[in-house]
Amino acid sequence: MSYDYDDQNIFAKILRGEIPNNTVLETDHTLAFRDLYPQAPTHVLVIPKGSYVSFDHFASEASEAEIVDYTRAIAEVCRMEGVSLTAGDGFRMISNAGADGVQEVPHLHVHILGGRPMGRMVAKAD
Ligand code: AMP
Repeated sequence: MSYDYDDQNIFAKILRGEIPNNTVLETDHTLAFRDLYPQAPTHVLVIPKGSYVSFDHFASEASEAEIVDYTRAIAEVCRMEGVSLTAGDGFRMISNAGADGVQEVPHLHVHILGGRPMGRMVAKAD
């Protein structure tokens, strides 16, 4: 079975320049921008420019150049936002996938959250 990518998702529209974003960092293969509804003092979304639905899709099909670029960009965002362990007090990185992961936007993104203690890792489902 292959991964199904919907190119009408909101992050695909951001990548095509059809809707605005508050960019933090742009590299050859990666875009980082502020979450529209921040849940912490730092809340940045980091997405690959390629059409990948989820982290497992990206990890299995992206090129090595894309994977290196994306991984390094995440570290750079943490440093720039002052939440890396070299520059601050740490962060939480979340990547939701699919229905059980409660993913709203079907284009791979990691949330970088920081600037306050994040509390428990996972809330108990109802
Ligand atoms: P997820 O539930 O992991 O798919 O998270 C999607 C995230 O995208 C949420 O935190 C939203 O607040 C955020 N979001 C949705 N639309 C936009 C947008 N146009 N610009 C920035 N963030 C957005």
